[in-house]
Amino acid sequence: MAQQNSGRGRNGHVRAESQHPARVPDEAFASDEALAFDEALAFDEAFASDEAASEPEAASEPEATSQPEAASEPEATSEPEAALDPERLALREAALAMVRRYGDPALKTRALAIERFDDALRAEIERMGRIMDDAMGIGLAATQLGTVHRVLVYRVEPQAGVAALVNPVVEWTGEETLPADEGCLSLPGVLVEVQRPLHVRVRAQDGDGEELTVEATGLEARVIQHEIDHLDGVLILDRTSRQQRKEAIRALRERDGEGGDRVTAGVAA
Ligand code: ZN
Repeated sequence: MAQQNSGRGRNGHVRAESQHPARVPDEAFASDEALAFDEALAFDEAFASDEAASEPEAASEPEATSQPEAASEPEATSEPEAALDPERLALREAALAMVRRYGDPALKTRALAIERFDDALRAEIERMGRIMDDAMGIGLAATQLGTVHRVLVYRVEPQAGVAALVNPVVEWTGEETLPADEGCLSLPGVLVEVQRPLHVRVRAQDGDGEELTVEATGLEARVIQHEIDHLDGVLILDRTSRQQRKEAIRALRERDGEGGDRVTAGVAA
């Protein structure tokens, strides 16, 4: 994905060391599944009309990434992996082992608002940032670790600090939308095309409960929307075409069969 972004309103560093697990009770899932399914259908319909060229902005965008062929091309993204030293790879494997995979009910769960901004929350944020980094992701939502908290972390520029958003709410999205390939740490090896608004404004809190507003563009806007989706139990498979979802699910099943654990490097969140 070659998009610029303009980081603003980032908040960074967190403190404290203890862990803060809050696991999902099984009863919570049934209704969320129905919700995600409905949304999936709604998005398919949106995509069907896109293909009929009812969206002039998207149609006129000569994006290389909008080609399905490019999406399934693993070469570009598998290169950095080869360069990893064994220690780094081991760290990454350990981090990925903590991330819930497609099929896990936690990924279909709508997370709960945070009300207590305490050391445990700040430790949770720090832990999420560490796991995201080790897994070489650019974003991570608490639900991906099986914790039903409305907390997400992201970092789209390597030199930036980890940004954390607690109780994020999309306050505004620009009219312009763009398709781009997205990966997900919970969907190893899968890249699907997702259409999202190019600009968003998000209201949230930091780990101390301070209100903040993030205005994001491009990749940063995309990652934030991807992670907020996770907090609502929505995956990229729910936001792509029926065709791409079918192919992705087939690939995931084949991968499961192999017991493979490789994750496409690059843009996974
Ligand atoms: Zn994801």
